[in-house]
Amino acid sequence: MRMTYANIYLNNLKHNISAIRSNLNTKTKLCIAVKADAYGHGAVEVSKVAEACGVDFLAVATIDEGIELRKANIVLPILVLSLCSLEEMESIFEYNLTPFVGDKEYIESLIHEAKKHNVCNFPVHLAVDTGMGRIGCFLEDVTSLAYLIDSSKELSLGGMCTHFSSADGTSSEDRSYAQNQFEKFNEAVNAVKALGINPGIRHCSSSAALIDHKDWQLDMARAGIITYGYYPYQITKEYLAKKNISLELKPVMALISGVSAIRPFAKGLSISYGHTWTSERDTLIGVLPIGYADGLLRRLSPGLNIAVNGIAYPVRGRICMDQCMIDFGRNNENVKRFDKAIIFGPKEIGALQTAEDLACALGTISYEVLTGITKRVKRIYVK
Ligand SMILES: *Cc1c(COP(=O)(O)O)cnc(C)c1O
Repeated sequence: MRMTYANIYLNNLKHNISAIRSNLNTKTKLCIAVKADAYGHGAVEVSKVAEACGVDFLAVATIDEGIELRKANIVLPILVLSLCSLEEMESIFEYNLTPFVGDKEYIESLIHEAKKHNVCNFPVHLAVDTGMGRIGCFLEDVTSLAYLIDSSKELSLGGMCTHFSSADGTSSEDRSYAQNQFEKFNEAVNAVKALGINPGIRHCSSSAALIDHKDWQLDMARAGIITYGYYPYQITKEYLAKKNISLELKPVMALISGVSAIRPFAKGLSISYGHTWTSERDTLIGVLPIGYADGLLRRLSPGLNIAVNGIAYPVRGRICMDQCMIDFGRNNENVKRFDKAIIFGPKEIGALQTAEDLACALGTISYEVLTGITKRVKRIYVK
């Protein structure tokens, strides 16, 4: 096996799921977002654990992601959070996926496809755009669309949902924007109820909202990033502690590489493309077989440190596509060839940083770092 791989700690995953569950109202269902290959962790494996842990729903972004789960014998209901192409629609019925819908044309296409499949009362979730500006209908169209779904033989209103754009922010502006979205969503639900139509499962909260606003959990919450052990943006552990909310999350993924060579380097030698770094003294340079094609982004150099046997060593020169170099300093007894190098992961395994730290250095969020770990990095499932 290659020296570069990702460990996926299933016990940490289970821990996070039960930590989330203990923050949910007893009647609130739990949906886990497993889109983007479960944020890079492996959708099939994560879904199997979720199923075994009693999770109620899964959520994917694409039809193909849903099909992958069905082919792996996942039986939980699967929400499809993004819109699909006309061509993909038949798979919704064939693989029993639950689509988000938000406009008349899309709903009518689904009804048309449903007729071909002879299905009745197939559940869809009506998405309401309360301020995210992505998918979903505006408030003024809610009742006509709910009626269109409910009055058709083929479809039924399985749920109503919305998505917040700033529930992960703590500024007063972000908070009042989210509050306004929540109120609009309730208005939408009430309008549907007033028609005498059952709105089905009402859900609006992703990770940030579900931990920060218990009263927004409604019938179901959609947890993504917290499942994988990371706090959403400004809803940090410290922020939660101040509000007496305890949520102990454990990173599920560790990105690991190894020292493929240790090279004695004389003073005055340069490293990597553009020779941006030159040794100012004799030193030992470690070569790691990991690069930006694995998801270790080139923008991380210079500045990134990588842990070997519990000590952090600086990356020297630019990160290449498949390799990068770190500086062990002179006379280093701490390292030998083929030792493990831990890029990020949970503290317990000796990681000195998390995907959040890398995200911070990159000016992005942990989501992007995790989903950016490429297919070439084999995921190893640790029980
Ligand atoms: C991705 C996504 C989620 C999960 O978001 P997190 O911030 O990772 O919890 C929930 N709902 C929708 C509609 C999404 O697209």
